[in-house]
Amino acid sequence: MSYAVRNLIAETWSDADGEQSVPVWNPSLGIELTQTPLQGPAIVDRAAEAAAAAFPSWSATPPLERARLFFRFHELLKRDFEQLAQLVSLENGKTLDEARGEVQRGMEVVEFACGGPSLLMGQCLENVAGHLDGKTIRQPLGVCAGISPFNFPVMVPMWIFPIALVCGNTFILKPSERVPLAAQRLAELLLEAGLPPGVFNLVHGGREVVEALATHPQIAAISFVGSSAVARDVYQLATSHNKRCQAGGGAKNFTVVLPDADPQAVARAVIGSSFGCAGQRCMASSVLVGVGARITKHLDCLNELTAAVKVGRTDIVGETEMGPVVSPEAQSRIQAAIDHAEAGGGTVTVDGRGTQVADAPGGFFVGPTIIEHAPPETNLLQQEVFGPVLAVERVDQLEEAIQLANRSQFGNGAVIFTSNGNAAREFASRVNCGMVGINVGVPAPTALFPFNGWHGSFFGDLHMQGSEGVQFFTQQKVILSRWENFGHRNQGW
Ligand code: NAD
Repeated sequence: MSYAVRNLIAETWSDADGEQSVPVWNPSLGIELTQTPLQGPAIVDRAAEAAAAAFPSWSATPPLERARLFFRFHELLKRDFEQLAQLVSLENGKTLDEARGEVQRGMEVVEFACGGPSLLMGQCLENVAGHLDGKTIRQPLGVCAGISPFNFPVMVPMWIFPIALVCGNTFILKPSERVPLAAQRLAELLLEAGLPPGVFNLVHGGREVVEALATHPQIAAISFVGSSAVARDVYQLATSHNKRCQAGGGAKNFTVVLPDADPQAVARAVIGSSFGCAGQRCMASSVLVGVGARITKHLDCLNELTAAVKVGRTDIVGETEMGPVVSPEAQSRIQAAIDHAEAGGGTVTVDGRGTQVADAPGGFFVGPTIIEHAPPETNLLQQEVFGPVLAVERVDQLEEAIQLANRSQFGNGAVIFTSNGNAAREFASRVNCGMVGINVGVPAPTALFPFNGWHGSFFGDLHMQGSEGVQFFTQQKVILSRWENFGHRNQGW
């Protein structure tokens, strides 16, 4: 099978081209599927030109007609659901079930976009003053661009482009250079659904292409998702070039366990959260704070079930519960973070370093890992590791757990497990982040809600998904009208 990495400009596909390139791996086997060329700014000029040319006609297309296109796109996503999930699993390494979940989450945003026209409606008030009527309308911004990370090759692009397009914008997507293939398939399906040429364009590359997008005079808005340092830089670059920008960054998500929670249920939920997608999720729980002396039985149960997680290749159907990480660099970085925490005095209670998978000796595997008492100076409590590593801390009171979580520079998610409603309410109210789970391991909002990072996990104002997405991709206009003394007179009515 060919895995050529191609740009889509208007309706024309062309091979991506650049002096340097980045490997796209099958992480299960550690073999290269293809290479993503790191292109220069010229490709952005071409894409922006095509998107700008398509804007007048697409923005004038009735919103219901634009929405109808997404009904057709949704049908194609249903038709090719398994193929898309397999592609995600192949290039990213997550299990097929995880990939199916990701495609499903993306499709839910498309469902939301199908109802977009209602959210585009403005407001009006008759007679705001004598014979004066006021109304607001929402208009698209122009050419918008999306830049996505490796960990959700389908879902993160779909957080962005269905809403941008249904609002009447034209679009350029720059997927992660590490997982370009599934995004390419989405572009093919958009064309098959009947999207006019130039409304959606796809370009590949890395930093140079991102900087060209963030500074391009024909581009009005940038949606970025990736690590915090890059998110901050892209936000500053785009806004200093007078663009709207929303930029999701990294995370350090705290999970607080009170002793009244069921140990088995907690262990299953924490394993799903910390080790699902090999820990490569911005909503993964990466620090567990156990409260009180009776928490030992929860931790024992967690250690036991974690040690039994089946790590294996995900590119064939099997019993694998957790796949590889995305690249050899990620594997080395994660193992080094564990070494560092252990050398600093942490106790590794479940050790995923050096995990070998018999039928995939070259795969980038790191097994699920739990470390107690990781010293603060090793940064396991404050920096994002972005792998299957869970730090465990013990405190005496809920108050200390909240204070620990609130020291984080990030602000994506936090979770509490308890059967005490009062404690859950206190935690949800006081924890300093934008997405909270109460007995929910991964409180990632579905399409109707904003994906709501705070602090170092998000730069901007309006978040992705839901009605905030519609607000981000439109600008309001207020129209005041008065016809008294200006309308035709004496028409006989
Ligand atoms: P990354 O920051 O390396 O890359 C993200 C995008 O930015 C890619 O398209 C990449 O080409 C581009 N990029 C990389 N370096 C750049 C630079 N120096 N200048 C300009 N552009 C650059 O992130 P990743 O490793 O692909 O993804 C993992 C990160 O994404 C994690 O930190 C994770 O927490 C975060 N993430 C956040 C959310 C969220 O909603 N907040 C969701 C998913 C992932």
